Amino acid sequence: MTQSTIRALFWDIGGVLLSNGWDRDQRREVVTHFGLDAEDFQERHKMIVPELEIGRLSLDDYLTQTVFHQARDFSRADFVAAMEAQSVALPGTLELARELGEKWRMYALNNESRELNAFRRHAFDLDGPLLAFFSSCYLGLAKPNPAIYRTALDLAGVTGVQAVMVDDRLQNVEAARSVGMHAVQVTSAEQLRSALAALGVQ
Ligand SMILES: [Mg+2]
Repeated sequence: MTQSTIRALFWDIGGVLLSNGWDRDQRREVVTHFGLDAEDFQERHKMIVPELEIGRLSLDDYLTQTVFHQARDFSRADFVAAMEAQSVALPGTLELARELGEKWRMYALNNESRELNAFRRHAFDLDGPLLAFFSSCYLGLAKPNPAIYRTALDLAGVTGVQAVMVDDRLQNVEAARSVGMHAVQVTSAEQLRSALAALGVQ
């Protein structure tokens, strides 16, 4: 393809550029490490996590309700460090994003709490390839609500057909398409590279 209609790329982070921040697998790992009652934690987590992700609850308040509602023999700092240690890079896609970031306008469009988002941006230098973060914690909206995609398009000043969403979850991909964006569901770096190339993004 010689001339692409795409003007901007929107990236999910968890499961695309990095491991998930605080999803089922990460929670299970940390809960096991600290010997918490998994069912009690999960119930408490479920009650309050949407507020954390849309930036209406601090991580400290979240931990008060889910972990430190009783005396513990570890500190908040220990727990947060274990949460942060769950974040690892997915090297293939991260490398592809750094490469594309040299040529293309790219933004994050992700669901994450403010504290973990800040940690991950800094620890993995995500502000290198990504010009801005349209994150649930800043916008007060979360994927797959179509409103967050429309807001991100408005903020970036592009239309749906000029944009491509890169995400690992089918429901988020479907929501992006529902507002007129191109969207790629990522399964591997090589698959992503060729799917983007088909849209003229290379
Ligand atoms: Mg994801």
